[in-house]
Amino acid sequence: MIAATCAVAIGLIPQASVRPGTPAAAQSPAETVADPAKILVDRLDLERYKATIKALTQFGDRKQGTDRNRRALDWIEAQLKSYGCANIERLKYDYQPPSPDTRNTMANTAGGPGTPTPPTAIAVGGGRPRGLRVRTGVNNDPNAQPDPKLRQLNSQPPIPGPREEIYCTKAGVTHPDEMYILAAHFDGIGWGEAANDDGSGTALVMELARILSGPDVQTDRSIRFIFWNNEETGLNGSAAYVEQRKDLQGKEIPPGSGRYPEPKWLGMIQHDMMLFDHGMPREDGTLSKEQRPEADFNVEFQLNSKFAVQSQALAWTLEQADEKYATDYPATIGSHMTNTDSSSFMNEVAAISVRENERGTQIGNGWDPQWHQPTDLYATYNDKDFRLGLNAAQTTLAATAHLAGANLKTVNSPAR
Ligand SMILES: [Zn+2]
Repeated sequence: MIAATCAVAIGLIPQASVRPGTPAAAQSPAETVADPAKILVDRLDLERYKATIKALTQFGDRKQGTDRNRRALDWIEAQLKSYGCANIERLKYDYQPPSPDTRNTMANTAGGPGTPTPPTAIAVGGGRPRGLRVRTGVNNDPNAQPDPKLRQLNSQPPIPGPREEIYCTKAGVTHPDEMYILAAHFDGIGWGEAANDDGSGTALVMELARILSGPDVQTDRSIRFIFWNNEETGLNGSAAYVEQRKDLQGKEIPPGSGRYPEPKWLGMIQHDMMLFDHGMPREDGTLSKEQRPEADFNVEFQLNSKFAVQSQALAWTLEQADEKYATDYPATIGSHMTNTDSSSFMNEVAAISVRENERGTQIGNGWDPQWHQPTDLYATYNDKDFRLGLNAAQTTLAATAHLAGANLKTVNSPAR
């Protein structure tokens, strides 16, 4: 019931595609009203999505504070420019790592392979993990990377100091002072290629920036595409953005200019690890080589946040968009969003994360053996995995098209 109500509110219930009272067969194709969201979703392409992930892996793990991270940022900027994404800007901040004794390791405390989860366990984010789990952690050992070229590429250590991240913006036509934020983090960790974490989310948001920046696409409200740095060190890049820019929201600067450097935030959608849903670890600690048949992607909000009600409504909007527009996989909603950049926004605006699995109860319990490991390589994944990420892209794109009021100029004024 909740889903149906929300769907009406955002216009995701199928609209009549023909004039009322006219039999469909009596109409010429020119008279049918096209669905802009469907046309935009059709512009996504699996091979293109894969190629963008692959291109990001040329910079190794893109660890924050290194040359390979800065080269990746320059490369993303050049792509955004080539897509025609407007108003490309960099956010600058300073990063000083915490002292080692105060650093919080994100590893869980599971015992040997396939340890049963105690019934009282609570995962990060507040969920209750079920079934078997294996220990997780971050690889910091260069020698765990068997490929000497990749080991060399990832060898420069980070130095504390100035950092940059990047965003570009599609300005809304009727409400340029309001926006949705679509985001992912481009930094990685673990001595691999950070292909899934988070090349997969970065490529997804890049593809959406490309499609929504198309010359025939108009939106009522603005959309900003943000590529965070320093996610892996504790969400420092998104925290810096919120701190520097939240008080600029909705302000016309200079007054009377019609320019809004920081449109009012209407919703924030983070994409982080989009590819791998092979199920729970087995008793011997191994995982299926194949994607599980009931694979889904997970849309999470945080129950213990100021904007929980608005965030769950945004999550249902994605769920309905998935039902109507995604080609293969369902979206599952959860209430335990955690440990990604949407957490930096959750007490300011509706904020959700889109992921391959639940972060706390599943990824955190060993469902993704590549997570922060040297095996997070482009070559690790197959087309079923990439297609899971593509389905999330279809879903966010369609939901955003509805929320921001997308129209296609050629569709609305076909005659010349
Ligand atoms: Zn990540």
